[in-house]
Amino acid sequence: IIEINHLKVTFDDREVLKDVSFTITQGDVTVILGGSGSGKSTILKHILGLFPVEAGVVNLLDQDIATLKEKDELDFYLKLGVFYQNGALLNSLTVGDNVALPLEQHTDLPPQLIEEMVRTKLNLVNLEDAYYLYPSQLSGGMLKRAALARAIILDPPVLFCDEPGAGLDPVSLAALDELILKLRDQLGMTVVMVTHEVSSILRIADKILFVEDGVIGFDGTLEEARKSPLPSLKDFFTVGTG
Ligand code: ATP
Ligand code: MG
Repeated sequence: IIEINHLKVTFDDREVLKDVSFTITQGDVTVILGGSGSGKSTILKHILGLFPVEAGVVNLLDQDIATLKEKDELDFYLKLGVFYQNGALLNSLTVGDNVALPLEQHTDLPPQLIEEMVRTKLNLVNLEDAYYLYPSQLSGGMLKRAALARAIILDPPVLFCDEPGAGLDPVSLAALDELILKLRDQLGMTVVMVTHEVSSILRIADKILFVEDGVIGFDGTLEEARKSPLPSLKDFFTVGTG
């Protein structure tokens, strides 16, 4: 569903990504791992078309994003769910209105149908009682789940998350992970996630991509990653679980 070939990214003469290639399979939860500043967010941003591709090919949903026509860009990127660490809700709107925003901005659906769709998504993330609440009335974990509901309101086939669990307590983090698995198992969603949370990774990852020195240093299943002799990857799992 996603194929990256020889992606290269240079910022101010510094090659942050030298030669990155990988494939992401439909229906998998893929976790992108790597040290701080290794380029994980940069990879996501390139898949999401936030930067022009300077060298290499990014193929997403059977589309080479470099050949996307400008008039088709909005429709195309609306097919992607994006859930950022600070993907904050608007404080002046209720949770229901926040989640409804993408539908109101990008569809002509009647209000009753929009409300129904929002309620379905709030149910999915176990926030059925939060429809009329304001963001300031929610806990950190609830805010994340509300943001997740908004990210998937248009039923994207792929969901991208950049450190979605940052700042959550272990219980809220586990609840968020469970939702991610629900999206995969019940809706068949493909999930691409950057996270440092080892407990999350052990719970949800099907595949691991490890970014190091501007390349993919490891690409395999979670099981393979845990057995990998690669020192930096090994450290990652030992430090995190030890
Ligand atoms: P973290 O785990 O800290 O979030 P990361 O792996 O997500 O790190 P990136 O945000 O992808 O790292 O950044 C990789 C490198 O590229 C960093 O050195 C960063 O300073 C640099 N960088 C990222 N975005 C830009 C930009 N728009 N302009 C210049 N340099 C950038
Ligand atoms: Mg980052």
